[in-house]
Amino acid sequence: MRAAHVTQYGDPDEALEIVSVDPPEPGPGEVRVDVEAVALNHLDVFARKGHPGDEGDFPKRSGCDIAGVVGAVGTQVDEERIGDEVVVYPGVSCGDCEFCEIGEQTMCAEYEIIGENRPGGLADSVTVPAETLEPKPEPLDFVTAAAVPVTFTTAWRMIVGAGELRPAETALILGASGGVGNAALQIAERLGATIYATTSSERKADLLEQWADEIIDYTDTPHDKAVLDLTDGRGVDLVAEHVGEETWQKSINSLAMGGRMVVCGATSGADPDIDIRSIYQHHRQIRGAPMGNRTQFRDVLSLVASGELTPQIDRVLPLSDIAEGHRAIENREVVGKVVLKP
Ligand code: ZN
Repeated sequence: MRAAHVTQYGDPDEALEIVSVDPPEPGPGEVRVDVEAVALNHLDVFARKGHPGDEGDFPKRSGCDIAGVVGAVGTQVDEERIGDEVVVYPGVSCGDCEFCEIGEQTMCAEYEIIGENRPGGLADSVTVPAETLEPKPEPLDFVTAAAVPVTFTTAWRMIVGAGELRPAETALILGASGGVGNAALQIAERLGATIYATTSSERKADLLEQWADEIIDYTDTPHDKAVLDLTDGRGVDLVAEHVGEETWQKSINSLAMGGRMVVCGATSGADPDIDIRSIYQHHRQIRGAPMGNRTQFRDVLSLVASGELTPQIDRVLPLSDIAEGHRAIENREVVGKVVLKP
């Protein structure tokens, strides 16, 4: 089968390679998913560029957002599942620690991400534990289904779970045309909150008008200044932050007294230079919100299936054009998701 491997750190053209490898055999409790669609995330870019804690043992294969068909099953898995159309929850956990017991898989000490700590879906086939499978909802095509897991589940935890956003509140969503930002924007809009959204171009702003109350072009005005102007100096109740060191201080400055900054990532770097007085003197809180749990995944999948939330697909590419997908995400050219079809 074909697979897209990261063979070294570097630019997309030198670090990514389409290779031919033996198809994987599912072990006990596992299934082989024949991949119909796999979406890219910043995690795929990090796998190629390296990030703190990254082991750098090449070759490696990323791809966390997988939709496909069960092609084979290992022992302990019902053969009837062959042919099932599925979406994969990308987290694997021990199943019986105190956190797994309360349904918080991502808090498990043994938590692993398919496509980061285990081989991912950028291939014709991938083996995953059978318990990671969710049925693909009937109304969704594979491309749309693959656009849901990482971004929408994370955004749900940011806005609804950790963020506890309420309809009468105000929220600032950074990078609202990208994957997780756009998902957070749609979820906040559905809740009924008043939303300020940042983006970097007029083309992207046009798309965001359907969900955001105010759109801020951060290339014109720093987003803290824009938010304070738009709110008569009050600031917002919640900031959904995933950019990191480039934006942290401005995001904190954008918060109202007692506001919450919810953080799911740090694509520009994880070492911000911040004034901690800007946190405690204003009763502000910073809350961590990584990937959502299994229940949150089911909730967003259900809302996408019913048309309440709509993943934006920037482009669909064959697996062989993976380098183009990486460049588009890294250069922030995309509106929504880049999805590959092996
Ligand atoms: Zn556990």
